[in-house]
Amino acid sequence: MSPRKLTGKPEELAAFVDKFDIFLFDCDGVLWQGGTLLPRAAETLAHLRSLGKKLLFVTNNSTKSRTAYQKVLQDFGIPCSVDEIFCSSYSSAVYISRVLQLQRDKKVYMIGESGMKEELEAEGISYFSDGSGDIMPEDYDTFGPDESVGVVLCGIDRTISYRKLARAYQYLRNPGTVFLATNMDSTYPTNGKLFPGAGSVSAPLTYMTGRPPLSLGKPSQAMMDAIEGVLKFDRKRACMVGDRLDTDIRFGIEGGLGGTLAVLTGVSTEEEILKEGATVVPDVYLDRLCDILG
Ligand code: PLP
Ligand code: CA
Repeated sequence: MSPRKLTGKPEELAAFVDKFDIFLFDCDGVLWQGGTLLPRAAETLAHLRSLGKKLLFVTNNSTKSRTAYQKVLQDFGIPCSVDEIFCSSYSSAVYISRVLQLQRDKKVYMIGESGMKEELEAEGISYFSDGSGDIMPEDYDTFGPDESVGVVLCGIDRTISYRKLARAYQYLRNPGTVFLATNMDSTYPTNGKLFPGAGSVSAPLTYMTGRPPLSLGKPSQAMMDAIEGVLKFDRKRACMVGDRLDTDIRFGIEGGLGGTLAVLTGVSTEEEILKEGATVVPDVYLDRLCDILG
């Protein structure tokens, strides 16, 4: 069935919003684009809150912690609590501590940025990472298997190096070491251009080992499990709002949510949404999020 573009008729918009108690929002491409807030996005969220709707912010961006994300939202004029934010740095940390229940004597080897470190620390997980320098002859002895490494977690790292990958490879050769990725986005948009995403950072490790990681970002249902691990909600009364079919909309559909809403302010285009034979199809779509205000 092809998706329906919501018209601006107040009764149709109200009937759509009425179907849900909770809205899961993708951030970049829905609420803002890079550093620019999209038109009336803050007003739209305030309107949904005034109707008593619960809001969650679900982003694949692992570079920031929840606290840092809260500041981004607040600086955009979107008040929110830390508990409403699910970034892939947080879902990864929650998954390791509460789903895997990593033993106290095991640690995580991490490729990533500050947001991942902060969330691992907040969950009380021991972790370490490596630097970007060359591998010097005297370092070779420090490379090799290590039974105390229970998890290799890979997120976006804009100082990724041969050294960091080589160390991960040593640990992943042990089949008992769990391989996780914060998210598998091949690219991410910034300043109107696409740059390599977290999935492109972990891809060489999959090539080296033949092992794909379990992803803790959309569309992986491990992200949904991590959310549900800390917050129970009725999936049939939940709507996923996103700009990307292969991550956000697929996440909502495979999670059995009551609805999916795509907006055209991000990565996926109207042509892709309406493409005949498309496998990931949102229930409805809008040009911009604020069109929900009528
Ligand atoms: N990964 C990185 C590094 C990003 O900066 C972004 C967007 O800012 C994303 C992924 C995608 O985030 P979202 O799920 O909010 O679209
Ligand atoms: Ca997005």
